[in-house]
Amino acid sequence: MSNHPMIKKVSVYPVKYPEPNDFNSTRYLTFVKIEATDGNVGWGEAITQFPGSTKGTVAIIEDLADFIVGKDPVHNVGIWKDIRRQTWWYSYRGGLAHFALSAIDIALWDLRGKITGQSLIEMIGKRDCAPVTELPALASTHVFQADLDKEVERHAKYVKEGYLGFKIGMGKKGDARIGYEIERDVNFVRDLRAAAGPKAWIMMDRGQALNWTFDEVIQRVNAWEESGLKWVEEPFEPWEFEQFRRLRTHCKTLIAGSEREWDYRGYTETLGSGTLDVIGCDVGRVEGITGALQIIKLVEAHGAWFNSHAWSSAINTAASIALSASTPRCLVQELKPDPNPMQHDLVKEPFGQVNGKIAVPNKPGLGVEVIEKTIEKYLF
Ligand SMILES: [Mg+2]
Repeated sequence: MSNHPMIKKVSVYPVKYPEPNDFNSTRYLTFVKIEATDGNVGWGEAITQFPGSTKGTVAIIEDLADFIVGKDPVHNVGIWKDIRRQTWWYSYRGGLAHFALSAIDIALWDLRGKITGQSLIEMIGKRDCAPVTELPALASTHVFQADLDKEVERHAKYVKEGYLGFKIGMGKKGDARIGYEIERDVNFVRDLRAAAGPKAWIMMDRGQALNWTFDEVIQRVNAWEESGLKWVEEPFEPWEFEQFRRLRTHCKTLIAGSEREWDYRGYTETLGSGTLDVIGCDVGRVEGITGALQIIKLVEAHGAWFNSHAWSSAINTAASIALSASTPRCLVQELKPDPNPMQHDLVKEPFGQVNGKIAVPNKPGLGVEVIEKTIEKYLF
């Protein structure tokens, strides 16, 4: 028997909230709270996004709770392996079990850190001897205003505030209609460059509503390159490796993708295709911190770049920043730039950029203090 406290209770809290960074649309998340016998508490999150996937994830977590109670949270990686074995039939290569395991795993790392007095970055290891205490911050946005001059102004403002640049999601909710007409899309990026200055990083990210032909992708990307595009994200669907391969021969910009993969199996395939430079990864989807660490190893082995898709709560952001800071293969940390409930109301000290940098949390566990009243307010 170890002298560590045991896991006493697992609670799950689904939430439904308005996201100002996404045209105030309703989004869903699933939180997990794990309490230990010594009174310490760990928090985790799965980016479940939709009502049905949220309900399904809640059911799986409730099912796994009995199995977790009584275990030693310091041996969290063993619990992770046990859960993978336990869910073998419905977790092969992805699905709701990955959401469930993500939330549980993040909560267990948080709890382990609080019990041992170590921050997440201390537990998973900094990228080199020189401590990485901050990362360059990138504004990750959707465009939604019909008047594109206002969007140009808004994005230039983020750069003036200190952000390294911005990544714009196209084909999203609202009236901006970017991603639908090539000439308009090209002019928009040219205007963004003029307003944001020569140094700002500009990335363009195709949304699900858009379906571009290969020729339409080439026309956009080549024209955007003239405006200094840093990277193009998911111009094709994740499995369209041949399209990505052809694109690579036509452009110099970095090609990003993979944020919809679920675990190292999918990432092994994606990275093995040799078609992507930047690998998107959501810790609230890829079986948590333990899963993301496996993916980072693959990214490093392939000489690609790791990019955390942190577009949900401050719990996800806290874990994402530590993961980003643990590898030399990371260029930026994305942040939703406008105040929003799951970042700014959820924790006592919300994340933000200062002079273009975001600090790596250094308090025990994830280093965030969750305000439970906010979870109660948005309970689904
Ligand atoms: Mg994306």
